[in-house]
Amino acid sequence: MSKAVRIDRHGGPEELKIVDVEVGEPGPGEIRIRHKAVGLNFIDTYQRSGLYPFQMPLQLGMEASGVVEAVGEGVAHLKVGDRAAYASQPPGAYSELRVMPAKNVCKLPDAISFETGAAMMLKGLTTQYLLKKTLPAEGLQPGDFILFHAAAGGVGLIACQWAKALGLQLIGTAGSDAKCKLALEYGAAHAINYSTENFAARVKEITGGKGVKVVYDSVGKDTWEGSIDCLRPFGLLAVFGNGSGPVPPIGLGTLASKGSLYVTRPTLFTHIATRESTQAMADDLFAVVQSGAVKIPIDQRYALADVQQAHRDLEARKTTGCTILTL
Ligand code: NDP
Repeated sequence: MSKAVRIDRHGGPEELKIVDVEVGEPGPGEIRIRHKAVGLNFIDTYQRSGLYPFQMPLQLGMEASGVVEAVGEGVAHLKVGDRAAYASQPPGAYSELRVMPAKNVCKLPDAISFETGAAMMLKGLTTQYLLKKTLPAEGLQPGDFILFHAAAGGVGLIACQWAKALGLQLIGTAGSDAKCKLALEYGAAHAINYSTENFAARVKEITGGKGVKVVYDSVGKDTWEGSIDCLRPFGLLAVFGNGSGPVPPIGLGTLASKGSLYVTRPTLFTHIATRESTQAMADDLFAVVQSGAVKIPIDQRYALADVQQAHRDLEARKTTGCTILTL
């Protein structure tokens, strides 16, 4: 048996219920993992609210760390007793114990704690593909300006550090002066409080009127128009989230009139579709974390039983950095 967080219908945080669930034996390609810590992600709120619809009932959670307890047929990269961490579909990480596909589960290096492993997989692998795999052609070069919204959040603070390590000039936005200060401490070259400042005008000022090569926009509805105005010709708008709501359809003519722009709507799950790509990206993440260039800030911890409050705080923009559920 395992305690788990389940919803029986889409809705607000009050729908999150702690239940007891039976956990069986892993089938082919699966493992059973006993969690040590669980990562909280903004995507969990979309799955709870129904912005991303699911069949009910649904056990939530996309990221965790733990110890492998049983291994199904055909799983070669994990064995019983391994320390492990993952970002993976289907949801189900908000639990003490679960059976799940092994494909996206990686051995966690001994030097990385369970809490760090639980906090960093989904957000760190996302940062990896955003900075290294999203821009086609020549990619990002040292010295390039990029704009990263919600820079003091979970993905945001990892991106500030990783961008700095790559020599990029990350301009971060955040919703308060305190959050802007945090983004600067974590390596942003510039920070803009987009609650009080016109971020597109400030980006033009910072870049000497040129604009940035890529805007990473996870805020969506409230920012996408301003984001387009921040791009240099041939620039890329990467919309990767819906913090304020989804982006409405963008007329293609806008992309022409603003300078032959590109738009993409990427998701981590295309990038980790195979075991090989998952492991290659995880190895890159483990290396940058072990080098000390990227630290994983766990700024909030909640007991599993307090998951409703965790969702309320995340949606109310009260959190910074990463959040974990402790077991
Ligand atoms: P964060 O810790 O970044 O929390 C979201 C932040 O968004 C808030 O703290 C807030 O920062 C900002 N925000 C702006 N407007 C709103 C609003 N109206 N309501 C709530 N928050 C708002 O979350 P995560 O690190 O978990 O995820 C960051 C984003 O990245 C999310 O949008 C998520 O969906 C997306 N994501 C996408 C992935 C993909 O592959 N496509 C994978 C992983 C994450 P502030 O107060 O500074 O504005």
